[in-house]
Amino acid sequence: MALHENRLLRHTVKFRPLQVLRTEEITPCMRRVIVGGEALEGFDSPSPDDHVKLFFPNAEGQFVVPTMTPEGPRYPEGQAPSPARDYTPRWWDLEAKELAIDFVLHGHGVASSWAANAQPGDAIAVGGPRGSHMTADDYDTYVLIGDETALPAISRWLETLPEQARAEVYIEIPEADDRQQLPEDDRIRVYWLERNGFDGATSTLLEDVFTDFEEPEGDTFYWIATESRRARMMRKYIEGHLGVPKEWIRSTGYWKAHPEYEGD
Ligand SMILES: Cc1cc2nc3c(=O)[nH]c(=O)nc-3n(C[C@H](O)[C@H](O)[C@H](O)COP(=O)(O)OP(=O)(O)OC[C@H]3O[C@@H](n4cnc5c(N)ncnc54)[C@H](O)[C@@H]3O)c2cc1C
Repeated sequence: MALHENRLLRHTVKFRPLQVLRTEEITPCMRRVIVGGEALEGFDSPSPDDHVKLFFPNAEGQFVVPTMTPEGPRYPEGQAPSPARDYTPRWWDLEAKELAIDFVLHGHGVASSWAANAQPGDAIAVGGPRGSHMTADDYDTYVLIGDETALPAISRWLETLPEQARAEVYIEIPEADDRQQLPEDDRIRVYWLERNGFDGATSTLLEDVFTDFEEPEGDTFYWIATESRRARMMRKYIEGHLGVPKEWIRSTGYWKAHPEYEGD
């Protein structure tokens, strides 16, 4: 097998009607919603940065989800589609038929508001995952860079870190109380960066890490998940200034700031 072979696994997409079973307050900025039901049967999520599409009730309180066609998802005519957002499956238990999603409570938006108010019995529909980016497990080091929306994926990265590998993790969070318990051993170094009142769209705490960044020895995979503009700029820097091959970087905009910040 070639060195560092990343692969894309495609899945047959299913839309699953599920119900809220219970909620857990994880930190001030994050609430876990555990959903479940018979429809969870067969659910799988092989990669730590997989996402599902969560579908919320439309203005009429209906769930209007697409069907998958060869041309892509198609919604029924004459009905307002359900608003949909991407979230990381944090954990799932097929025996108990439970799926946990950790929501950042950022104070606006359909998903954040739904999660803040979620009660047992509330309905939701879950689509996917549609595909999984299977990052090669033979890098020497994985550098994981993310804000609070990336914490569910980062937790999964660390829980499944290849045996020989090291991880350097940089996580930007609103404040110290938003730290979470992460797997830590002598292969894993975690740096928490607290914004303390600054905005997640314009903060530069993660970017500042690169001011005197010492590249890890050996082959290193870089994973970035933050606000879109910031993720894009960090990818550019890592590729352009550090000279890292682009196949060794995966950078995803996890949310989009209001357009007034899209200055670059
Ligand atoms: C692959 C992937 C996986 C993701 N996994 C998770 C996850 O596990 N947990 C999680 O919480 N999020 C996750 N996200 C991010 C989440 O999809 C977005 O934050 C989404 O915009 C939230 O939808 P909303 O309806 O709450 O807000 P929207 O309706 O999308 O936005 C409303 C307003 O809120 C702002 N906003 C949106 N998100 C944030 C934020 N995080 N902080 C501050 N302002 C924000 C927007 O700029 C906009 O002004 C993931 C995104 C991707 C692409």
